[in-house]
Amino acid sequence: MRFEISKVLDAIEGRVCTDPSLARAVLDLAEVIRYQDLDGGRPASLLRLGMVIDALSRQMEEDSVPVYAVVHRALLSDADLTSNERMVVRRWADDGLVEVLDNPGDRMLEVADLLGLPVLTRVRFDGLRGRFPWLVEQPGRVLAPVPGAGGPVFVAHVGGGPTPVEGDRSPAGAKLLARQWRCPEPGCALFGGGGGGGAFADLARVERAPAGQPPPALRNGVPTCPRHGTRLGDAGPRPRSEVLAVRIGGLVRRRFVLTEEQPVLVGRAPDASGGIVLGQWLNDEARRWISRSHLRLELRVGEVIVTDVSTNGSGIRPHGSMTEAERVPLAPNQSRVLGGADMVELYPGVQVGRAGELPTGAPFTPTSVMAEAPTMAMRLPRP
Ligand SMILES: [Zn+2]
Repeated sequence: MRFEISKVLDAIEGRVCTDPSLARAVLDLAEVIRYQDLDGGRPASLLRLGMVIDALSRQMEEDSVPVYAVVHRALLSDADLTSNERMVVRRWADDGLVEVLDNPGDRMLEVADLLGLPVLTRVRFDGLRGRFPWLVEQPGRVLAPVPGAGGPVFVAHVGGGPTPVEGDRSPAGAKLLARQWRCPEPGCALFGGGGGGGAFADLARVERAPAGQPPPALRNGVPTCPRHGTRLGDAGPRPRSEVLAVRIGGLVRRRFVLTEEQPVLVGRAPDASGGIVLGQWLNDEARRWISRSHLRLELRVGEVIVTDVSTNGSGIRPHGSMTEAERVPLAPNQSRVLGGADMVELYPGVQVGRAGELPTGAPFTPTSVMAEAPTMAMRLPRP
């Protein structure tokens, strides 16, 4: 049991992040872990976060949708959590996967406003409608996770539907996210720069590429570290990045960020760190066809360059066209610029393209390329 719970917590860890390009909804961890009515279990449980993330995934018809969690600092020592859960949350905090705050206040709504994300909460924010008009003007921007038949379901605060709605980044958010920021506090997990920090500070620094920095808080118009309350220094323009997605059998399995700093390998099981592993979603035939490292993707002066590094080759589908006659072969060792809506196809039904151009839950399902593995890896133990 203990081992299984650790595995579930590891799976959840892959779904929390403060990267503005990858997070798909904002929530307050202290609130979500106390949704006792979801399972009738302990007063607080980190597994409820997994249940809510699963529900988001089902609603968005997409695998691996990460959430942006704001965390009250008191949670790191909350006696209602198990010691294992507290340790996990502290690790997330050290790694900058969650945003820890002395007083979250309305930070959850600020993040949602800056990034244009939906909010998952049962709290009503009647007093803040003036500052965040989308609370009432955009049905589906704020959803309450409530108990449902097969796990939590969502009910929109306005409009009542179950579908999370993404908005645009606010003008302030777009401005803040055009720059990179530096916190003067040593070892800051969110806007790191100085030395020191927790046991995981080195790891956090490696993983916190400038392109993935969270949005600063705005205090009286001044970009501020939400964790330390310090004024952030402007460290220059944020490096360019492109959000790509892998779609398998018509369903987006995961998104990833391509930066100019480092190419990304995609394949059955690429050796390089940061590679996108597809193996778990492939059937035997697709697994035989697709090489361990099949594609190399690079971002060069804003253009996505795809190079086939496989044994069997790939194909380009211009503008996402599913017409066979329009498919352009991409032979091994050939490179090509991936146009705006182009997709590269490793095997029928296994595609990579820009996340914004790759609809998910599409009716296109060839003879299943899906592995036996369930869509979501999480199996929640009954309390
Ligand atoms: Zn800081």
